[in-house]
Amino acid sequence: MSKRVIILGSTGSIGSSAIDVISRMGDPWEIVGLAAGSRAAELADQANRFRPRVVAISEAEAAPALTRLLEYAPTVLAGDDAMVRLLDEQACECVVCAVVGSSGLKATIRAVELGRRIALANKEALVMAGALIMPLAARTGATIIPVDSEHSAIFQILHGRRASEVHKVYLTASGGPFRTWSDETMNEITVQDALQHPTWKMGPKITIDSATMMNKAMEIVEAHWLFGLEADRIEVVIHPESIVHSMVEFCDGSMIAQLGTPDMRTPIQYALTFPDRLACPTPRLDLLKLRQLSFHPRDDRRFPALRLGYEVVRRGGTSGAVLNGANEAAVTLFREGVIHYRDITRYTEQALNQHNFNAAPALEDLLAADRWAREEVARCTAC
Ligand code: NDP
Ligand code: MG
Repeated sequence: MSKRVIILGSTGSIGSSAIDVISRMGDPWEIVGLAAGSRAAELADQANRFRPRVVAISEAEAAPALTRLLEYAPTVLAGDDAMVRLLDEQACECVVCAVVGSSGLKATIRAVELGRRIALANKEALVMAGALIMPLAARTGATIIPVDSEHSAIFQILHGRRASEVHKVYLTASGGPFRTWSDETMNEITVQDALQHPTWKMGPKITIDSATMMNKAMEIVEAHWLFGLEADRIEVVIHPESIVHSMVEFCDGSMIAQLGTPDMRTPIQYALTFPDRLACPTPRLDLLKLRQLSFHPRDDRRFPALRLGYEVVRRGGTSGAVLNGANEAAVTLFREGVIHYRDITRYTEQALNQHNFNAAPALEDLLAADRWAREEVARCTAC
């Protein structure tokens, strides 16, 4: 049976790991579509190697360079709607959604509308629009399988069990580069400091999100939508070794954990092959070499972003779109040196508190809330 895969965000950290996984699995796995944002040379290299039938680039100005660099003649799609057109034009069995941020939302929704299997890394899509995406998937028969390591762990542990049997899920968090920094030294954080993740090698936006723990806040929202759990059944526990990817405590008191080396190729491959398991190229976990596995309570005072994840789960409506839009804008300003590390969470919280809440938004309302949140962060920066 053919296994045609489209990778959205193929030039990124997750996208290139997905390519590695698929190329190692070989027949019947085939990459039939690749999409990226603006990096034409990287996308052309991938396309020349794997010869997908369709190649898409969102930044229209990058399309001539892409076409020039291609050594064969695939269909080239360019512009804001290129990823959606790619999904419409090229049939496939699975879509890897690995675009970073809100740019992945519309294509994720289209993949759900088309009823595809979706290996979902783009957690921002669920944070913004989980209330639309999950019921849509139920209607179209789309299967959403998480790539995020914590959610992959929970998905693997639950494996068909009823949510009513779950007492709590425990999302593990490495704690990021500032886990042991004092409150005072956190005032001195630079962009370079925030880009040094202790255990995972990832794209820059999620690396900053991990440093503020906004990533974990978004993962709380992601767990809510994927597993139908309310805020009081989602715990965050700091686990600096990043070996236990998450845990589920069942109603009878049994706790089941999923362990593995911190390498995203494992959850990517599982999302593609589920319910089957194939050998994976990641190093195997050597239990005897693990000196210790430690667990610590979260610190909401030094990492106030975590509270915002719970707040978004409780409030729902437009709050996820505001959280995500404000955070994306603030992370960009931080990386540009315009605002301080601590302003990322401060401005995001301010936007959440100020926004004109809508309890039952349509997609257009979510996109408007996203735009408003970005403008609000720009206003905060100006005052
Ligand atoms: P990267 O920054 O490494 O890659 C982002 C990808 O998205 C690139 O291919 C980029 O293309 C593409 N992209 C950006 N904007 C657009 C756009 N407008 N249209 C089309 N493509 C676009 O990010 P990561 O791989 O680290 O993260 C991707 C997603 O996976 C995020 O949602 C993240 O939260 C999630 N995730 C990542 C993990 C990791 O280990 N990296 C772990 C768990 C989740 P270009 O290169 O052309 O800019
Ligand atoms: Mg994660």
